[in-house]
Amino acid sequence: MQVYKVGGAVRDRLLGLPVTDIDRVVVGATTEEMLAQGFRPVGADFPVFLHPKTGEEYALARTERKSGRGYGGFTFYASPEVTLEEDLIRRDLTINAMAEDDQQNLTDPYHGQRDLEARILRHVSPAFAEDPLRVLRVARFAARYAGLGFTVAPETLELMRELSESGELQALTAERSWKEISRALLEDQPQVFIEVLRDCGALKVLMPEVDALFGVPQPEAHHPEIDTGLHTLSVLQQAALHKQPLTVRWACLLHDLGKGLTPQEEWPRHIAHEHTGLKLIKAVNERFKAPKDCQELALLVGQYHTHGHRALELKASTLLELLQSFDVYRRPQRFEEFIAACEMDARGRKGLEQRSYPQADYLRGAATAARGVAVQPLLEQGFKGPALGEALKRERLKVLKAYKDAASA
Ligand code: ATP
Ligand code: MG
Repeated sequence: MQVYKVGGAVRDRLLGLPVTDIDRVVVGATTEEMLAQGFRPVGADFPVFLHPKTGEEYALARTERKSGRGYGGFTFYASPEVTLEEDLIRRDLTINAMAEDDQQNLTDPYHGQRDLEARILRHVSPAFAEDPLRVLRVARFAARYAGLGFTVAPETLELMRELSESGELQALTAERSWKEISRALLEDQPQVFIEVLRDCGALKVLMPEVDALFGVPQPEAHHPEIDTGLHTLSVLQQAALHKQPLTVRWACLLHDLGKGLTPQEEWPRHIAHEHTGLKLIKAVNERFKAPKDCQELALLVGQYHTHGHRALELKASTLLELLQSFDVYRRPQRFEEFIAACEMDARGRKGLEQRSYPQADYLRGAATAARGVAVQPLLEQGFKGPALGEALKRERLKVLKAYKDAASA
């Protein structure tokens, strides 16, 4: 049997990038032979094994055939007769369809190296269209390698468009989609992921709420970029530039969904979009079964981002309500993430990327002040139950008033 490195390990080594996860393919072996050598089987669906010592993945060379809708609708055929070329042709992109042996001899039947040099993301064969997840994968790779100058080949984008129009994308499970979406959002240029999905019509299917933001104007005085979709892309880009975590990036993507619902007569104003957007944010959250912390932050940022921008003008009582809504006493980190999302929103405006955002420190200071109110003295004064809660609120309001006065003095 022969063992080859495949996929990302080969691609990233040729690009001169660090290789973290190594996928290997085994040609000329049977499951029995693998087990006899101590490999541990893992794949419920595919013949994949873990190396007894290194724990790295080894997959038997296989071919696959589409037999139904979605990802479940595949039949696999693995046998010692399946060649390396046959295994490579079922892969998504030419740059992902190269293999190398121990001596770094390259097997590259579909010209991945040529496309690497030309900076092109190109599908390997028409079988690309058999797994709709590949639409998301290509968009993710476009986001990852945009900085190196990679773009999607027109014929691949065309196939992605056909896939998006065919209704196949709806067959993807929430889990598979979220895995791609979350990884893509964590790339250096996550906005490219959204752009590519939009270019091929997949955004309209996967997140129509985000797609609807393109073409919706905002007041030029606050938003020189005008278009809400372009603004959203810039906010996402800022979040990546500032190395924000996934929660913040997810919230950035969804913060303005309400603007897609504004009646045209009201354009470019978006009265109460924070409120109207909540049901849309909830729907997108649930569609992809986003993790709880992502869901929560997206809803809170959707509802309160304008409060963040107006922080310095908020009455002490409104400031207190904001801090209470975030449960800043037990969840300080979540409030930090809210502040970060607001700042990215402010920076995601054309020409205003470098403008300072004093609201951030002001909000932090307010949170610190409110959290500084001690419970003990109130307990000692005999407060308990709901009365204690009320007394705490009164004390917090007092310190926030003092904080606000000191800040504006
Ligand atoms: P990463 O750096 O993100 O791990 P990768 O290319 O190694 O990138 P994996 O998800 O680890 O991506 O998959 C390994 C290889 O398996 C890919 O390079 C590709 O050849 C193939 N592959 C994975 N998923 C698919 C898919 N849905 N359709 C076609 N080929 C796929
Ligand atoms: Mg990999």
